[in-house]
Amino acid sequence: MTDPATGFEPRAAVSVPAGLTVLSGPSAVGKSTVVEKIRRGCPEVWLSVSVTTRRPRPGEVPGREYFFISEREFKDLVAAGQLLEWARYAGNYYGTPRDPVTERLESGVPTLLEVDVVGARQVRAAVPGVLLVFLSPPSWEELVRRLTGRGTETADVMAQRLEAARTELLAESEFDITLVNTSVRDVCAQLVALMTAKPVSEPARLGPAIWKADGGRDSGARRNHQSAHR
Ligand code: 5GP
Repeated sequence: MTDPATGFEPRAAVSVPAGLTVLSGPSAVGKSTVVEKIRRGCPEVWLSVSVTTRRPRPGEVPGREYFFISEREFKDLVAAGQLLEWARYAGNYYGTPRDPVTERLESGVPTLLEVDVVGARQVRAAVPGVLLVFLSPPSWEELVRRLTGRGTETADVMAQRLEAARTELLAESEFDITLVNTSVRDVCAQLVALMTAKPVSEPARLGPAIWKADGGRDSGARRNHQSAHR
């Protein structure tokens, strides 16, 4: 039966993960808005807090959006193997502290990472059974509008982010599922349903073929497979 909140129909024979989910997609597509809404409205999901060498934007609180650290501190974390994944993005370093994620997963808490495409690939290699979700903009024009409208970056950084976004969009087919960000509310509902529908004890068994997209909906999800017509 199709879940009205998600527009998905789970395959009866296969369980749904209560393990690790990665949300990725181009900069400014709205990942952090989705994450913020889930943080406020969905306490059963734990959100990993990344470390970054970027400076805080107005309104960002250390330890909530990120732990803001120096480049030296970041390199020490990398050298000590304390990051599950890390990447350099538009001139700054970003990474996911390993231990908090491991602890949540061992306790069976549904865990969400918001990372760039490079980080998503590293998590896929490191964690069997991780679910990779790609957040896609409704259109390229809309992405440019969001990126330039944010007004928090210099022209230089903006150009770097637009260039990065172009490359990141090409990675969509590497992900298990695409959610199109036409509505933050819908995306959050879909994502939380994917993460919390049914706990399983062995996430490694979970593969991508667990959901069927509701083909008729614009704002719904697409399931990505190598076998699909790409
Ligand atoms: P922003 O500076 O806009 O907050 O983030 C820039 C990019 O870095 C976004 O695509 C965001 O998803 C990504 N990002 C945030 N945290 C991490 C992380 O821990 N690891 C990686 N690889 N990317 C991250």
